[in-house]
Amino acid sequence: MSRVLIVGAGLTGSLCAYLLKRVLQSKAQLVVWDKARGAGGRMSTSRPPDPTSHSADLGAQYITATAAYAQSHSNFYTELLSAGLLKPLDCHIEGLQHKEGNKNYVTPLGTSSVVKHFLSESGNHTFLIFCLNNVPPVLQWGNGI
Ligand SMILES: Cc1cc2nc3c(=O)[nH]c(=O)nc-3n(C[C@H](O)[C@H](O)[C@H](O)COP(=O)(O)OP(=O)(O)OC[C@H]3O[C@@H](n4cnc5c(N)ncnc54)[C@H](O)[C@@H]3O)c2cc1C
Repeated sequence: MSRVLIVGAGLTGSLCAYLLKRVLQSKAQLVVWDKARGAGGRMSTSRPPDPTSHSADLGAQYITATAAYAQSHSNFYTELLSAGLLKPLDCHIEGLQHKEGNKNYVTPLGTSSVVKHFLSESGNHTFLIFCLNNVPPVLQWGNGI
């Protein structure tokens, strides 16, 4: 079985894991490394001990889909909307320059919920807190990786 290492559990890494899982199914074992304690990257959400009270997005505040992306990636937006992870942003944001055709979405459960959705949909991979400091020509696999 092939083993695939994805470094970084932000939106890019989580979507990569999700898409690879869809293509490779059980033909590959995915491992995701991130130097941080949790997934999210620049779409991280901080939560207090009682997570139902409030949360704070530490990076992205909302998601913008250009007209072209809304069309080419419509399946992703549909999936996230039907899972309740995205909702159309329908209030006024001071300073936001609206571009014709762009759609803005908020994330009711925090922006990290989008990243976590793609990670969890990518199946039974291993998430490790690990910082990659250099990339050797051939990664030596071992010790459970
Ligand atoms: C303040 C702010 C506001 C933003 N607002 C918006 C917005 O309103 N709308 C919008 O659409 N976008 C917004 N963005 C942009 C959006 O957050 C990013 O484009 C997106 O999250 C990038 O995802 P990524 O996975 O490519 O990178 P990242 O989220 O940066 O993920 C990279 C991950 O790799 C990990 N990593 C890095 N190096 C290593 C290493 N050597 N070893 C192991 N792990 C490593 C990091 O810990 C991180 O988790 C905003 C960003 C910021 C910072």
